[in-house]
Amino acid sequence: MIMSRVAGLLGLLSGAFAYKALSDDGLRNIADPGDDFDIKSGALLAPILQPRVPGTPGSTAVLNHFVDFFQKELPDWELTFQNSSSRTPISGNDETPFVNLIATRDPPWAGQGHVGRLALVAHYDSKIDPPGFIGAIDSAAPCAMLMYAARSLDAALTRKWSAMEAEGVSELEEASGIQIILLDGEEAFKVWTHDDSIYGARSLAEEWDQTMHPAASTYRTPLDAIDLFVLLDLLGSANPTVPSFFRTTHWAYLNMANTEARLRSLKQLHTSPAHPFLRETNKKESDRWLGGAIEDDHLPFQARGVDILHMIPAPFPTVWHTMADDGEHLDIPTVKDWAKIVTAFSAEWMELDEYLLPPKKRSLLPEPDRTEL
Ligand SMILES: [Zn+2]
Repeated sequence: MIMSRVAGLLGLLSGAFAYKALSDDGLRNIADPGDDFDIKSGALLAPILQPRVPGTPGSTAVLNHFVDFFQKELPDWELTFQNSSSRTPISGNDETPFVNLIATRDPPWAGQGHVGRLALVAHYDSKIDPPGFIGAIDSAAPCAMLMYAARSLDAALTRKWSAMEAEGVSELEEASGIQIILLDGEEAFKVWTHDDSIYGARSLAEEWDQTMHPAASTYRTPLDAIDLFVLLDLLGSANPTVPSFFRTTHWAYLNMANTEARLRSLKQLHTSPAHPFLRETNKKESDRWLGGAIEDDHLPFQARGVDILHMIPAPFPTVWHTMADDGEHLDIPTVKDWAKIVTAFSAEWMELDEYLLPPKKRSLLPEPDRTEL
């Protein structure tokens, strides 16, 4: 992404969605990531820490890592590839392929077009220059955080939806699902412009805007079905400060900040409470809002009216777009804390409080019956 001098227009105020804060026990039940984010052996993060320029073998290897993870560990998530290709400033007459991966989990009874979704988003491609660039904060670590969030919520989603089904629900009832969107082609190949950047996001937003749900659906298109687009970028350096960028989603920022504060007070985070990540909790209407000043994957979604929560530090971490943005320069306690904060926020959004189980007991309890559709 890039800092732009042009401030964008702010969207219209939009309605708030159902949201229920976790109890203290619920927050304690968000499992600690343990070794998942070890840069050499971490099951989630380590395989992403390699160059993954669109259309190269590294990109395919990382994509396969995501697919393997969902297929083996989270088989109830539906995987979708969204493909496109485009010329770039360095591709001559050839087209470079871009592959977005979307993992979706909806209530099993929900009819197509009746599910609104929390979308958790990061880009998985890496910058072509400098050669060998890893992009650990940009955005290998955010991708791993989203894998962790999906895995941490999966069993609770099953439990909640099984309980709802047992009570009886209609497929026409409005339902809430969750979606992990791993985008390709965020980085510019030469110099960031509107044509040389966010290739994957532009293609996905356009396609989802034009894909019509059946008539009489609650949501007109898959794009319309995104209740909130939470974009993680440049996360994993120590002492980040993430501003609240948009007045229209400040309510969601406040929920995320409250989750962070409560996790800290319950001693569930690893980093110092002296430097909270989300500190613009007293922001006023008349304060300066930076929405639009940072160009990133949210732009084509925002332009089509999607609500955006942009989780990106400002100022950017000092390693940004340098060879120092590698695994060794990640601050792992910060990576773990982001993973827990985003997971807890998502659990609150999906109203999973009583369905999260204490981490230690999880393996001792039988899985609830699953209804296959
Ligand atoms: Zn970048």
